[in-house]
Amino acid sequence: MSDCIFCNLKETLPKEAFVYKDDFCYAINDINPKAKHHILVIPNEHVESLNEVEDTMLIKHLFDAIKKITKEQDIKSFKTLINTGKDAGQEVFHLHIHILAN
Ligand code: 5GP
Ligand code: ZN
Repeated sequence: MSDCIFCNLKETLPKEAFVYKDDFCYAINDINPKAKHHILVIPNEHVESLNEVEDTMLIKHLFDAIKKITKEQDIKSFKTLINTGKDAGQEVFHLHIHILAN
């Protein structure tokens, strides 16, 4: 098993825990929500942070997924956030985008 929490969750979470899933990424509710809706969109591929992204099509794909997720959940107004690096508050070193909405 990987020592990366987001690589592991992808394999171990029950089906109903996933807000969204496709061939490139998955989305789950944040365990410690900072807003009414706090969803994490996580690429299947292990990339530590935005600094390590080589193919920026991955970012396009993640934002395409965000559009689908927010539409499905009827979230019309929301913030997206990517913490990159420890000093910016990144705690899990597997790239993820936060969706935050009240
Ligand atoms: P970061 O600070 O790295 O941008 O955000 C990491 C996020 O992952 C935090 O908001 C934290 O609450 C969330 N998180 C950490 N461990 C888990 C977990 O095991 N399950 C879920 N659903 N979220 C987690
Ligand atoms: Zn990982």
